[in-house]
Amino acid sequence: MNMDAIEKLKGVRISSLDDDDDQEPVNIDKEDEDYDDYDDYDDDEEQEPATLGFVEKPKDESLLYRQCFPSKAGGVPAWLDPVNLPSGRSFMCDICGEPFQFLLQVYTPIEKENTFHRMLYVFMCLSMKCLLRDQHEQWKRHPEKPSRSVKVFRCQLSRINPFYSSEPPKYDGSDKPSGSGAALCDWCGTWKGDKLCSSCRRGRYCSEKHQSMHWRSDHKITCQQLKISSHESVCAPNHIGTSVESRKAASNTLWPEFSIIIDDESEYNTEMCEGNALTTSLISRNRIDDTMDSLLGVFQGDDDKKSWAYFQERIAKAPEQVLRYYRNTNARPIWPASSGRPSKLDIPKCSYCGGSLYCEFQILPQLLYYLGVDNEVDSLDWASIVVYACEASCEASVAYKEEYAWVQLYSPSST
Ligand SMILES: [Zn+2]
Ligand SMILES: [Zn+2]
Ligand SMILES: [Zn+2]
Ligand SMILES: [Zn+2]
Repeated sequence: MNMDAIEKLKGVRISSLDDDDDQEPVNIDKEDEDYDDYDDYDDDEEQEPATLGFVEKPKDESLLYRQCFPSKAGGVPAWLDPVNLPSGRSFMCDICGEPFQFLLQVYTPIEKENTFHRMLYVFMCLSMKCLLRDQHEQWKRHPEKPSRSVKVFRCQLSRINPFYSSEPPKYDGSDKPSGSGAALCDWCGTWKGDKLCSSCRRGRYCSEKHQSMHWRSDHKITCQQLKISSHESVCAPNHIGTSVESRKAASNTLWPEFSIIIDDESEYNTEMCEGNALTTSLISRNRIDDTMDSLLGVFQGDDDKKSWAYFQERIAKAPEQVLRYYRNTNARPIWPASSGRPSKLDIPKCSYCGGSLYCEFQILPQLLYYLGVDNEVDSLDWASIVVYACEASCEASVAYKEEYAWVQLYSPSST
């Protein structure tokens, strides 16, 4: 980071986006009480290289199907266990009740019997208002019933399982899953569609919200056609005839779909970032610099500046990274600011086995740019989302086990 940038730190101040007056102030004056529990970010203690994730338009869409075990962002999730999807209220924002939108999934197999396949999924509510409320919740230590607008699920399978061949995929388009999955919602294509349209008995929805959105969009017309065609033939073409999984989601608010490709951070060194990175992708680089500059403006105080400088220095090696994956369970994320970080006490224990969670990966704000999220005042925005997962990758009675996300916003202290 150069001196100009440091100057800007002082100049720009972005006020709170939370306009709700009925909120209690967030108590983050915990620094003194357990300062030692904070992750260190001392400059003299260089953190080990991470595995970096970058997004790329998929060369072949079939590589993003679940039988190819993809790491991907946007679009719909590729469910590892395609049958026992999260249900009940677990797929809805605890704050507004809207079904969550799929953000990304990372394939992270561990060489053990029950984690031969292992996938972590991140979902979030599209509303920034909810994310700001989520912050209030996040700072309450271990509430009995957490109320979140960001959710992480872990799913794992052994090599021999009902859904996939025990042989690795060939990635040539010939890979097929062993069985079909649950029918999905016609609107979001994400969650189980176990509610039927009462008129045509064909439209399938995860929730009433999505049913009404589909109705307003075009189902009120197609519903009639489906009713007529169901009298003519039991198996209508292009709807029930096609695999329930291959129906396209009707929603136009899903994020654009990308593959996540990975690369080792140690492959990037600071010297090459000035010249080479610029020539290969000028346009996105400029836009990313804008993102980073606007991020920079909101951090105040010496600790924040120091934290930001270190963050910036690490990111500069590969500025298009959207994800930092930590293979080592002792690794720590890099925080853009020192305020708004959790202490160790803020990270709960695994809600299934009671064991420790560790920082498995971190999602950077650059992803928002690729997802085409507007840069408006009330647009979804974050400084970092850090995903903590059970160190033991424990088993539980549910296929999708909830893990923990810590969201750092730009100015958490002012909400
Ligand atoms: Zn919400
Ligand atoms: Zn839905
Ligand atoms: Zn209908
Ligand atoms: Zn556990």
